[in-house]
Amino acid sequence: MIVLDGKATSAQIRLEIAEAVKALYSAGKKTPHLCAFLIGNNGASETYVAGKVKACEEVGFRSTLKRFPETISQQELVEEIEKINQDPEIDGLIVQMPLPKHIDELTVTLAIDAKKDVDGFHPTSVGRMALNLPTFLPATPAGVIELLKRYHIPTSGKHCVVIGRSHIVGSPMSILMARNSEPGNCTVTITHSRTTNLKELCLQADIIVAALGKPEFLTADMVKDGAVIIDVGITRVPASDTKSGFRLKGDVKYDEVAPKCSAITPVPGGVGPMTITMLMLNTLKAVELFGK
Ligand code: NAD
Repeated sequence: MIVLDGKATSAQIRLEIAEAVKALYSAGKKTPHLCAFLIGNNGASETYVAGKVKACEEVGFRSTLKRFPETISQQELVEEIEKINQDPEIDGLIVQMPLPKHIDELTVTLAIDAKKDVDGFHPTSVGRMALNLPTFLPATPAGVIELLKRYHIPTSGKHCVVIGRSHIVGSPMSILMARNSEPGNCTVTITHSRTTNLKELCLQADIIVAALGKPEFLTADMVKDGAVIIDVGITRVPASDTKSGFRLKGDVKYDEVAPKCSAITPVPGGVGPMTITMLMLNTLKAVELFGK
């Protein structure tokens, strides 16, 4: 059984990005510049954005963090996005979710110039991804693909069951696994909360991507021998024996599933570390695709 180490893989990719930044600089091109919008005072969002800013520093990108009060109107936010769209200095823009209730997520996503959509959530990016055209891929599914690639996990002709159909994980994951690409070329079954025969489907799967957000949901009796298990789930569960008072749990019951499978991602240290790194890769791509 191979443990797919997202932490080590992510560190390696960040070194490669840092090298690419140096090469851009030597070629007289600009340093990639990521801008992040943070709205309100959500603690988890603060942590995520801080991680993104830190990652920019690590790979040699410029970064700009713009904070807005919880009370910003949708119109004002769209105007701020438009300023960034027009700013030739900035290559990528992310608006940290969740947004305050009075702001519509889709309106904000649509306001971002698709050429700066490094989160890969704009319909143009999603459409281009589905057509297998060069574009920004959503970071978490792209991180899974990168892990499969770097560990040379065979995917062609395999049956992949994706659990979850969210716009940011499950749905793009199913598209990427089915694409005529390597990794890819899977026969994909996408499942969700209305699926009635999940266990039966999982038992037929060569690869399972669990992205439903229910800790330790996938148990050994749902997994066939030798399957590849990708655990996207991250849930904080209370733990009295840790300093923080919680522990991160994946969607897979790791201890009982790991001995049955051929490869598995741990939580933490699997898909999680890959996500921010793929955002960095998208920002680099923005310069390569659209930078002057
Ligand atoms: P979501 O709540 O938006 O979507 C969950 C999906 O799971 C839904 O499509 C739902 O239909 C499906 N689902 C729920 N119960 C189910 C069941 N019993 N059987 C089958 N399907 C079921 O969640 P999300 O944003 O896609 O995130 C999923 C998990 O991944 C969460 O734990 C989240 O924290 C984690 N996540 C991790 C990263 C990362 O960087 N590793 C990034 C994004 C999300």
